[in-house]
Amino acid sequence: MPEQTFSATFWGVRGGYPKPGPTTNKFGGNTTCLEVRAGYHLIIVDAGTGIISLGEKLTAQHQADKKPIVATILFTHTHHDHTQGFPFFTPSRLGSSVLHIFGPKLLHQDLEAVLAHAMLPPVFPVEPDKLRSLRVIRNVSESEMIVLGEPDAPPQVCNVYREYKECSPGEVRMRVMHSYAHPQGIFVYRIEMDGKKLIFATDVEGYAGGDRRLIQFDQGADLLIHDAELLRRSTLTGTLPGRAGVTAHGRWQSRWPKPPGPKSWPSPITMPSTTTHFWKTLNNGPKHSFLRPL
Ligand SMILES: [Zn+2]
Repeated sequence: MPEQTFSATFWGVRGGYPKPGPTTNKFGGNTTCLEVRAGYHLIIVDAGTGIISLGEKLTAQHQADKKPIVATILFTHTHHDHTQGFPFFTPSRLGSSVLHIFGPKLLHQDLEAVLAHAMLPPVFPVEPDKLRSLRVIRNVSESEMIVLGEPDAPPQVCNVYREYKECSPGEVRMRVMHSYAHPQGIFVYRIEMDGKKLIFATDVEGYAGGDRRLIQFDQGADLLIHDAELLRRSTLTGTLPGRAGVTAHGRWQSRWPKPPGPKSWPSPITMPSTTTHFWKTLNNGPKHSFLRPL
């Protein structure tokens, strides 16, 4: 069997809110969205405003080749900057599209209910049940794994303790780590295919001494994507109201003071105030040379 494609494309790299303009031209001003191509499968992580342009690309492709758009969408959590593009994701309006949507149940609220809440009048004109696509939305948990097998087969959700089996070639597996290092919690995803591993770990705040569970979860990763909103010297400039001493996003130094196992280090989630100039400055310093922004 020829080697299958396994690639990642960033469509949104900002946290908090979109920031278009000259200071974000190079790395983009949209909020979080990642496109992963794994063999025959399309996986989208988060639906910040970046998913709008991705949707336009997919729709244009569909209009040209008439093939239905089939995608698996993973939500890390449901804060605005990870969901605000979803109501404008044009494939969800096409009757031929099939979207398998997974994410956490947070604060006792099902993912489907939270996504629907953001699209109900009077805050949005189109109710979710007016969308023509087939959407299968379900909560997943740490003890479950999402598996993509044959190209046309829907994803399977397996219990990692009771339903383990050897991975077959071309099969895609998505594991979850539920981190509590963010308000209401967050899912970190590990996507694996044919021995290659990609980790998406955004909005994870640091712990003193590092996040051991996260480091363990990342072991053997080929590509680790995590937020790098704050430098150590930024101290508490990102402190949230009512959460003294706590920042909403991560300081990468607090977790990985030196380059560990993963081979690549894009750091996609930066605050809107983090400009192209910031990244150039950061990357020019030798002690930060392992960082690779987009
Ligand atoms: Zn968040």
